[in-house]
Amino acid sequence: MKMAHSRTASTARRGRVLPDDACPNCGTMMLEKRGRLRLPVNGEEISVPSAQFLDCPKCGEIVLRLQDSKRLHQDAIAIYRKRHGLLSANEIRVIREQFGLTQANLARLLRLGANTVSRWESGRNVQTAAMDILLRLIRDLPGSVDYLRSQAA
Ligand SMILES: [Zn+2]
Repeated sequence: MKMAHSRTASTARRGRVLPDDACPNCGTMMLEKRGRLRLPVNGEEISVPSAQFLDCPKCGEIVLRLQDSKRLHQDAIAIYRKRHGLLSANEIRVIREQFGLTQANLARLLRLGANTVSRWESGRNVQTAAMDILLRLIRDLPGSVDYLRSQAA
């Protein structure tokens, strides 16, 4: 659904980062702004209500600084998780710590890349629905971690 006042964060996708506050389009000094931006997560357009960015008062160009871009991405992933009923970054960390596992331990048990769990917990990536149900299984079914350990390569 298209929101009337939202804009797509195309600059975030291009990864443009400027060293100063000048508009890359017209050179005007840009202003700090907070507003709705949209970002695709797994091919789905996610609307982030209070994204921070620089806005050109003259031509309307939007620039996301590196920290703006990171924050927008994390917020979009958090919204995506909520919408799809997936575990939050914090819930994943709680499950992992409940079993005394490091991020690398859990990744190995689930046969994932070494940094995957770290990316879930920092909100940089979202777990698949299949991994989500597996994490719930670990949390709710006693003996799951022992089973995974017994199957570890
Ligand atoms: Zn401009």
